[in-house]
Amino acid sequence: MRPISRPQYTGNTITQYKSYLSYLIDAYGNYCSYCERTDKVDVEHIVPTSHNADLELEWSNLILGCPRCNRDFKRNKNESRAGYIWPDTHNTYHLLQYHTDGRVEPISNLSEALKSQVQNTLDLVCLDDSGQPQKPLCLGRRNAFQMANIIKDNYIRENQTLDEVCIFAKGNYWSVWYTVFYSIPEVKTALENLLPNTDIQRV
Ligand SMILES: [Zn+2]
Repeated sequence: MRPISRPQYTGNTITQYKSYLSYLIDAYGNYCSYCERTDKVDVEHIVPTSHNADLELEWSNLILGCPRCNRDFKRNKNESRAGYIWPDTHNTYHLLQYHTDGRVEPISNLSEALKSQVQNTLDLVCLDDSGQPQKPLCLGRRNAFQMANIIKDNYIRENQTLDEVCIFAKGNYWSVWYTVFYSIPEVKTALENLLPNTDIQRV
């Protein structure tokens, strides 16, 4: 889950929340804000409108969600932001541990309170689907790890340029690519600037 910082909204006055879609894609890139895939993203209300109708057109309540994360799992289960971590308010990269087999879990050194918030968000959108009969995210991250490690070897041997690494990394699962290239400073920096408004420095 790539941490993002929210730019000021400077567009037209919006009367239908779906009209925010292009602004959100400009702000954050064409990726689900939860699972980091490019799958048919739509406007996602962090606090569901069924719990707070006043936030329906509120820019600060909107990110991008794919049908899987939004409609199949999250729905209106959270009543507010409290008790969870969110990509626009927390450093969701540094709170999660991505494993090469595709699993994801809270990093190990968190306080119990924070760990349960991280777990709540993982459960809310089933970000670790390794226990599900079908596990598209787990398998997708596993493949992304394999691909990123091949590209990393090529890059170290100078068989792949930085630009080429970035082209591959622009697919799905930014956090996997960032994990694999974390130890190579120039690629790490390039990945931090690859997608709009990534906020990896947030404490
Ligand atoms: Zn998603």
